[in-house]
Amino acid sequence: MIKDNILEVEKNILAACKRSNRSREEITLIAVSKTKPIEFIEEAIKAGIYDFGENKVQELCEKSNYIKTNDIKTPVRFHMIGHLQRNKVKDIITKTVLIHSVDSLRLAEQIQLEAQKKEIICDILIEVNIAKEESKFGVSPQQTEQLIRDIAKFGNIRILGLMTVAPIVKNAEESRTYFKQMKQLYVDIANKNIDNVTMAILSMGMTNDYEVAIEEGATHVRIGTGIFGQRNYTIL
Ligand SMILES: *Cc1c(COP(=O)(O)O)cnc(C)c1O
Repeated sequence: MIKDNILEVEKNILAACKRSNRSREEITLIAVSKTKPIEFIEEAIKAGIYDFGENKVQELCEKSNYIKTNDIKTPVRFHMIGHLQRNKVKDIITKTVLIHSVDSLRLAEQIQLEAQKKEIICDILIEVNIAKEESKFGVSPQQTEQLIRDIAKFGNIRILGLMTVAPIVKNAEESRTYFKQMKQLYVDIANKNIDNVTMAILSMGMTNDYEVAIEEGATHVRIGTGIFGQRNYTIL
């Protein structure tokens, strides 16, 4: 079932690439495995997926440790896509390939501190609340450039791009305007040529809207339900 879902998603990604004159290589598919058991991840690995998204520090660490201790011979990468508390940074910093959800200077300061201790460079994205929803994390589009300039001064952090979670809408077409705004912000910031800042990754698009996101320039899509099925939070 997971394998079939991945094939279906791949077909849709390819079609969206064709429609927008992009090549499939420009897109990274992140399978969002939050709340799902490790067996699901193993099945996805067999179907050729290497990038997984998690939104809870403990769950990401457990799954990452399992992959390591079972010596699975593929380059599995875990992406931190959920809100990150400062006191959890030390637990996750060596387990994740990319933190998508940095939205404050205070959080970045903590990442810098822990990265320096471990003598690593930590790759991050800035999470933008593009529709300025009360309920969402992320920096406002207006404050994004300043936050990037402030974080760019940290020697152990590398800013690689932007991430957003678009509003929940009935029809994916309604999200297009937000994805366009994200792309514009991404291009504008790239054009400022800020030292230590690369706009290489635009992480946007989920199960309901990833095709539109790709058409508007996403480089990374984060798909949970479309690959692993509905999540059941009540049993946790
Ligand atoms: C859960 C989650 C996703 C995946 O959502 P689906 O609608 O299941 O594809 C993507 N991004 C973030 C930040 C998430 O928390």
